[in-house]
Amino acid sequence: MSDKPEKFIDENGLRLDGRQIDEIRQMKIKIGVLSRADGSCYLEWGNNKVLVAVYGPRELHPRRLQKADSALIRYRYNMAAFSVEDRIRPGPSRRSIEISKVSREAFEPVVMTHLYPGAVIDVFAEVLQADAGTRTAAINAASLALADAGIPMKGLVAACAVGKVDGQLVLDLNKAEDNYGQADFPVAITQDGEITLLQMDGDLTQEEFKKALEMCKEGCRQIMEMQKEALRSKFADDLLAVQVPDEAAESIDVAATLEDVVEEDIIEEDVGAEEVSEEPSEETSEDDLAISEDAEIELAEDELVAEELDESDADEKIPDVEVEFVDLLDEEADEEADDEDKEVASEGSETREQ
Ligand code: ADP
Repeated sequence: MSDKPEKFIDENGLRLDGRQIDEIRQMKIKIGVLSRADGSCYLEWGNNKVLVAVYGPRELHPRRLQKADSALIRYRYNMAAFSVEDRIRPGPSRRSIEISKVSREAFEPVVMTHLYPGAVIDVFAEVLQADAGTRTAAINAASLALADAGIPMKGLVAACAVGKVDGQLVLDLNKAEDNYGQADFPVAITQDGEITLLQMDGDLTQEEFKKALEMCKEGCRQIMEMQKEALRSKFADDLLAVQVPDEAAESIDVAATLEDVVEEDIIEEDVGAEEVSEEPSEETSEDDLAISEDAEIELAEDELVAEELDESDADEKIPDVEVEFVDLLDEEADEEADDEDKEVASEGSETREQ
């Protein structure tokens, strides 16, 4: 471990790595890097390098672990043996079990698990290179990997930490600031501003606590912008691959287009009155409405793709997705149940320990 620096902030108010006290490290994001995962993201943040893979929703085995009314989220945070200067002993540690637990809880309020009873959503966060802030880096990447997997969420989750060095609060600690600083305060926030992770190591006064939280919120706001931009550039590429005709591309307004398609769809296919009614019936809960809106958007997106493709082509592609999912739930899972039983039984005991 490197020696403790004499000063963390110089006379110009700059930190050892040249950053302002409220400046986050440079972030690079790549979504969809693993072909076998349902969703994935590689993220570099300063000298941190993390890779997250998401699998699911898929049927949970053994079945006794299934939740009748929702999907189970499993989150595994792991540091590669070579991720720090000294080799890390492979396998779960107290620290990695704790981080896995709090990270899973950071996502539980946003992932719409009630849509997949009996299923499991697995999130594997692998830290390839660590330089402080790995739990927050993994959460930022996991949020995008979940979105990449097409898992319905109420919004993204962004995370960053504030710490204290030389008696001053600093945003997004680097390793020296984390190791020798007076506090470490990681926070995760949803798109709606709900705090889903808040930990504190060290000492902060009440005033510092409030200020630290404000700094974290601002850091998370900036990160969420980067996350959205990464999603836009990933899925804009996919949209371009659909080859929108030139005249349509000139005035492309995705939101408006989706709305139009929903309307057309309603008129043309004479969808049942309860599905198209804008007035909620007395029995219709807010959740039901949210789900039916999501279903309409999904339907509209499918229709948008189908319109741009040759009809026969579209007919082949869209049902494939459903078949694949049904297979996964009903047949493939049964065939592989024995293997998975063994594998998940050991992971299950790990989950229960958490
Ligand atoms: P976070 O990475 O979320 O900030 P910690 O505050 O626990 O989590 O760790 C800070 C940093 O200390 C890590 O990013 C990593 O660089 C280093 N570190 C953590 N655990 C170990 C370990 N077992 N061996 C060596 N370095 C470690």
